Amino acid sequence: MRNAGLGAWPARRATISPGRTALVFEGQRISYAEVHERVVRLAGRLREAGVERGDRVAYLGPNHPSAVETMFATHLLGAIFVPLNFRLTAPEVDYMLAHSGAKLLVYGPSCATTVQALSTAPMLVGLVDKYEGWLVDNAGPVPDVPVGLDDAALILYTSGTTGRPKGAVLTHGNLVWNCFNLLVGVDVGGDEVGLIGAPLFHVAALNQCLLPTFLKGGTSVIMPAWDVDRALELIEEQRVTWMFGVAAMFAALTRSPRWAGADLSSVRSVMSGGAAIPPALITAYLERGLTFCQGYGMTETAPGATFLEARESLAHVGSAGVPVFFADVRCVRPDLSDTDVGEPGEVLVRGPNVTPGYWDDPQATASAFADGGWFRSGDVAVVDDGGHFHIVDRLKDMYVSGGENVYPAEVEAAIFEHPDVAEAAVVGVRDELWGEVGRAFVVPVAGRRIDAAGLRAFLGDKLARYKLPVYVDTVEQLPRTGSNKVRKAPLRAMPLNAEMPGER
Ligand code: ATP
Repeated sequence: MRNAGLGAWPARRATISPGRTALVFEGQRISYAEVHERVVRLAGRLREAGVERGDRVAYLGPNHPSAVETMFATHLLGAIFVPLNFRLTAPEVDYMLAHSGAKLLVYGPSCATTVQALSTAPMLVGLVDKYEGWLVDNAGPVPDVPVGLDDAALILYTSGTTGRPKGAVLTHGNLVWNCFNLLVGVDVGGDEVGLIGAPLFHVAALNQCLLPTFLKGGTSVIMPAWDVDRALELIEEQRVTWMFGVAAMFAALTRSPRWAGADLSSVRSVMSGGAAIPPALITAYLERGLTFCQGYGMTETAPGATFLEARESLAHVGSAGVPVFFADVRCVRPDLSDTDVGEPGEVLVRGPNVTPGYWDDPQATASAFADGGWFRSGDVAVVDDGGHFHIVDRLKDMYVSGGENVYPAEVEAAIFEHPDVAEAAVVGVRDELWGEVGRAFVVPVAGRRIDAAGLRAFLGDKLARYKLPVYVDTVEQLPRTGSNKVRKAPLRAMPLNAEMPGER
C-alpha cells in the first residue's frame, strides 16, 4: 500500500460505499463519493500551491466540512494537518503558525479579523474567497505520494492549561490504532449517525467520533458550534445514534427545557471523556434509557488510554475503565515503581496510539517519556483491585495543605452535589500558616445565590476538614479552554477579595 495514511480513506470509502452520506452540515448532505471527489480536487490545488510531503497545512475555523476535506487532502499529499482553535487571538495563532512552520492556512469567514491581524505570512485560503472556487474543477492529477503509518499526520497544540502550548505530533498509525481501540469498546456500524458537537480541532471530536464513523462508513452530523437546543433538534431530525461529548455538554443537555420532551429513541450510545462524569448525570441519562461509555485520555494518546464500556459503567461508577485494547497503562510512584492497589500514582501510557513527541521541542519530548517509552500523563489515578482506573486529578493541580495532599477534583465533585451550583473549580492558594489552602470558584444555577458559609457547612459532611475551601468566590462564569476545560492559571492569579475567609 503506497498510501497507508488517512489521505487514502475517502477513496477507499468511495469504492465501498459511494452513495452513503459521510457528512451532514446545516441541511447539506455530502456522500462518500463527493467527499472523495472534493478531496482529490483540493489536494491538486494544494499541490499547485506548493504543498509537498512533510509540509504543514493549518486550518482556523469553527466546525465545517472543509476542515475534514482539508485534513484528508493534506494527508493525500503526505503533508501534516494543523487544526487550530478558532477562539485564539492573532498572537496565539501567530505563535502556532510560526512554530509549526505552516506553509498554508485555510480559514473560515468568522476568523477573517484574526487572520488580518496575523504577522506570520503563510499562503491564505479563505473559505469564501478562494476555497470553493478552487474546487469547481480539477487542478490536474494528484501525485502518488508514499505515506506510512509512522509519518506525522497531525500537530495538535495543547490548550495550554498547564503552560505554553506544545505541538503534540500524532502519526497516521496513532490515529488508526485509536480508532481500533474505540471500535473494540463501541459497536460503531455503517448505519451509525454520529453527532459532532465538540470542536474538531480537538482530537476527541476528531478521533473518538468522526474518524471511527468515517472508517466504518457511517454519517457524521457536524455542528458548527455547540448549541444545546440545536443538538436536541438534530438528534431527532437526523436520528442520531451516538455522540461524543464532555460531561459539561451532557449536563447542559439535561438543563434544556426541550430535554424532557426530546425523542432520544434513536440514540444507542453516549460517550463521555475529558473529565469524570458525575453520578447524578449518569442517573439523569439512565432515566432516559441511556448508559454512558466513558474514557480517559489526552491529546498525546490520540486520545484514548482507558475505556469503560457502557455495559460496565453502572458497576464501576466513578471509574474511567481499564486500559484500551492496544495500549499498556500503569500507575507509578515518583521513583517509577508500580503503585499498590488503591495508592495514588502518576498514569503512564505506552502503545501504538502514543505520540512520538512534540513538534520541534526535543526538551519537552524528552521529559514527557520515562522508563523506556512510557508517556507521562501528568495525571494521578488509583487502580482498584479489579484493575479499574480512577482518575484523581492532575499532578499539577494538586496542592499541599499542612502536609496533606488535596486533589481539587475531589473537592469539586463534592461541590457539584450542592443543588445551587452549576459549575465549580478549586485551586490551591498560598497561605502563611498551612502553606496552601483551597479556593473555590462557583457559578450558581440561574436565579440562585450561593452563600460561602452555607456551602462550607454542606461540604463539611462530605470532606475532611483540611480539604474544605477556605475561600469561596461566586463568579458569573469560569475561564475555559477551546475544549471546554477550566483554565486554572487565571483563577490562581486572581487577587483574593475582601470576603472573610472560612477556617481551615
Ligand atoms: P494541557 O494543555 O495541559 O495539555 P489539555 O486540557 O489541553 O491540557 P487534553 O489532552 O485536552 O489536554 O486533556 C487531557 C487531560 O484531560 C488529561 O490529562 C486529564 O487530566 C483530563 N481527563 C481526560 N479524561 C478524563 C477522565 N475521564 N477523567 C478525569 N480527567 C480526564
